[in-house]
Amino acid sequence: MQYCPKCKINIRGTKKCCPLCQGRLEGEGEAPIFPVLKKRKVSNVSFFKICVFAWILLMITMFWIDYVTGNQFAWPGVVRVAGCFALADLGVGMYYHSNILKVVTIEIYFGMLVGYYIDKKTGFYGWSLSWMIPAFFLALVLITMIMGSILKLYIVDYVIYLAVDVLASLLQIIPIYREQNPFPYAAAASIAILLGFASYIVLFRFRDLKNASSKYMNI
Ligand SMILES: [Zn+2]
Repeated sequence: MQYCPKCKINIRGTKKCCPLCQGRLEGEGEAPIFPVLKKRKVSNVSFFKICVFAWILLMITMFWIDYVTGNQFAWPGVVRVAGCFALADLGVGMYYHSNILKVVTIEIYFGMLVGYYIDKKTGFYGWSLSWMIPAFFLALVLITMIMGSILKLYIVDYVIYLAVDVLASLLQIIPIYREQNPFPYAAAASIAILLGFASYIVLFRFRDLKNASSKYMNI
């Protein structure tokens, strides 16, 4: 232990000088009381800034290629969209890194949007509406339930996700109504299953739903 002869105090840990009088210390220092955390070389914020910078460069390059080639190719547009999704994805992942369920949920919604976009850009055959989005909604509810039990969440903590998923799945009615969905049965089935699930929650888990909504409304 270190000792300051002027102030007559013992000092724990290792100090260069006395914290009171800044004078010289006697004796040997000891291991620090608090664990020393390794400082990360690049903080999350600067990592994200680097990514934003790379994204800006990518955007400029792609617009430049479009300009030079007179919009001859489709791929710079695809790269731009992919770049935007990648950056948004990274941002979400870093912002909600402590809430894995939120990250997974947002990723799945991203996936649906990307699928819909690709479908629309490649002739709009409707496969995203017919198969991909209905399957993603079912997977979303299943994954939410599985993660809820794996992470040992209370249903109060994730029932709001399920409610949002059910409401979002109702949006599938719009393309069916506008006759944009060439095979609407899977979408209809996924809406029906999610509504059935929602009625189960409302009937048998009403207290959890009420607690969750009051919890979220109060914030
Ligand atoms: Zn001192």
